[in-house]
Amino acid sequence: MYNWVLLLILSFSVTSVSAKQLALSFDDGLNPEVEPQAAQINHDILTTLHQNQIKAILFPSLSKIGDQQGLTLVSEWGKQGHRIGNHSDLHQNLNHDDVTLAAYLASMQRGDSQFKSLQGFVQRYRFPFLKEGNTQQKRDGVRQWLDQHHYQSGAVSIDASDWYYNQLFVKYQKEQDQARLEKLKQAYINHLLDRASYYDDLALKTLQRSPKHVLLLHVRAINAAWLGDVITAFRQHGWQFIDSDTAYQDPIYKIQLNILPAGESILWQIAKVYGIENLRYPAEDVPYEQENLRRFSLSSTKL
Ligand SMILES: [Zn+2]
Repeated sequence: MYNWVLLLILSFSVTSVSAKQLALSFDDGLNPEVEPQAAQINHDILTTLHQNQIKAILFPSLSKIGDQQGLTLVSEWGKQGHRIGNHSDLHQNLNHDDVTLAAYLASMQRGDSQFKSLQGFVQRYRFPFLKEGNTQQKRDGVRQWLDQHHYQSGAVSIDASDWYYNQLFVKYQKEQDQARLEKLKQAYINHLLDRASYYDDLALKTLQRSPKHVLLLHVRAINAAWLGDVITAFRQHGWQFIDSDTAYQDPIYKIQLNILPAGESILWQIAKVYGIENLRYPAEDVPYEQENLRRFSLSSTKL
């Protein structure tokens, strides 16, 4: 009897130490004038997070949320105990030649000015498309701005393509294709678990440990519908949810790599510096998902 109790305590402590941990982050936000379901999607995601007792972080972009109505949806996150970071105004790709440092910094500044008064705001910046600069001047110029404005990292460790699965979701929903929606749900969950495991493996290969992860998702219809299923599947696969403040305490988020072009997941960048072979660039993109869609008999889908 005594041994059983001891074993139980031991196995519990081993489990709690070895459980892989992740925080959820949601990018962009929605503009109610463009997306009629915006308020419903926002509400459903927040409800699922509440039901699962998870505190997440939202990185809104002004150009994605529109005017005051969109900002009101963003402010709901802060009121419900989630964090709000800055994802700029114009949602530009810093690696594009036609995006100048001056224009980019002005866009970051406008995001900061709009979001900083919201409850739950934290000085964390999430680079649109996870692109951190294609020249040293741009990369270091933005890093200097972040430093001067006392910003901390808003990086992700697990990159994924939920935005692409959302496009399929919207299409099948419009067609009321329940059979394909059911397959898509499995394909979507499989994709997220696969990416989480891939990036965790990169960490094990380089850092020899599983860090506190941050997963990239978006405020989109697919997550309004299936975030609860995603959370359940991650828990079943041994993942434990933590809040973003806790996740960002991991020292990996203090690392700034001197690579060009800069960006992608922080673990992808670390792996690049370590010389890990066969890293994809960009790390996540639509063509990579065709094999997964075939696995779930969804390959013939045209958007
Ligand atoms: Zn974005």
